[in-house]
Amino acid sequence: MRYLAEFRDPALARRLLDAIIATATRRWAIMEVCGGQTHSIIRNGIDQLLTDQVEFIHGPGCPVCVTPLETIDRALAIAARPEVIFCSFGDMLRVPGSGMDLFMVRARGGDVRVVYSPLDAVRLAEENPDRQVVFFGVGFETTAPANAMAVVTARRRGIDNFSVLVSHVLVPPAMTAVLSSPANRVAAFLAAGHVCTVMGTFQYEPLVATYRVPIVVTGFEPLDLLDGVRHAVEQLEAGRAELANAYPRAVRPAGNPAAREILAEVFTVCDRAWRGIGTIPDSGWRLSAAYRDFDAEVRFDVEGLTVAEPAECRSGEVLQGLVKPPQCPAFGTSCTPRTPLGATMVSAEGACAAYFQFRRLTPAGSRG
Ligand code: SF4
Repeated sequence: MRYLAEFRDPALARRLLDAIIATATRRWAIMEVCGGQTHSIIRNGIDQLLTDQVEFIHGPGCPVCVTPLETIDRALAIAARPEVIFCSFGDMLRVPGSGMDLFMVRARGGDVRVVYSPLDAVRLAEENPDRQVVFFGVGFETTAPANAMAVVTARRRGIDNFSVLVSHVLVPPAMTAVLSSPANRVAAFLAAGHVCTVMGTFQYEPLVATYRVPIVVTGFEPLDLLDGVRHAVEQLEAGRAELANAYPRAVRPAGNPAAREILAEVFTVCDRAWRGIGTIPDSGWRLSAAYRDFDAEVRFDVEGLTVAEPAECRSGEVLQGLVKPPQCPAFGTSCTPRTPLGATMVSAEGACAAYFQFRRLTPAGSRG
């Protein structure tokens, strides 16, 4: 096997692989929900090791990828204002909007800064009372607690020149959208362990019961993923559909109750547009009415911006497993990580970017 010797515990990897190969009587379509899982699967060649047993469908769980163009354009519009210090994690700075990215705004004189925590942005607001400090709050349930904490801290300290441009998305509604699609081919899910450390596993029970689909929570190490696949294949072959936790060293059924409490206080569920997919009902968070005065969209009046996606991009089909990245005519030609056209190429965690980085010019399992 090409990559097995590079695994942390090659003997355990061998045993897990053998178990999957011995159990699978057919090729199962399994979706890894998170871009971090996708990246690990492709980087470690897990899809190539299990070509005849598993087709990995690369899910929508990359927060940078699914942030819609109009949200990026709203960030650009706010960041270009002279009174604003615009703060973001570094990975959002090179994500293109319809015309430019945050790096270009900075090159043109905008005060765009990389921070390592939303609390750094709160501190900046405290130190610069004559400026408006805006934090770009993007991500899944994993990053939301720190953003909620920043808003609560700003309120407690009476800092009114701080606000957040919120674009949080939620995993279970996206999985529901995948399962509800007439084109759905997903037989089982590998759910993202880091989301479950915050939200717990109980939120997946209705999905398992309604759709009769196995859901296995995994970590991101190659061995974690192999163990998750083993759980999923065993259930599929036995005709069972259960919720399994293959990441118990980090995930508890109830998640992190303190984090969930502050999330419930600061955010409220809303419909959210997902880049490459479209609007999914009840799939995001926005600031609750009690914290609406910290909402940058309202403060800077950029709610109405809308932008169309490039027509040639097939990332919506990639995210549903209908095509693999190399089957898109733009892959590696007009669309590369330097010149991304769509959702799944904009971040290193996107499926198209992972295939490009690791030179997967044909889908695993194809003979081309
Ligand atoms: S290669 Fe680019 S254009 Fe094609 S689906 Fe992926 S992101 Fe879209």
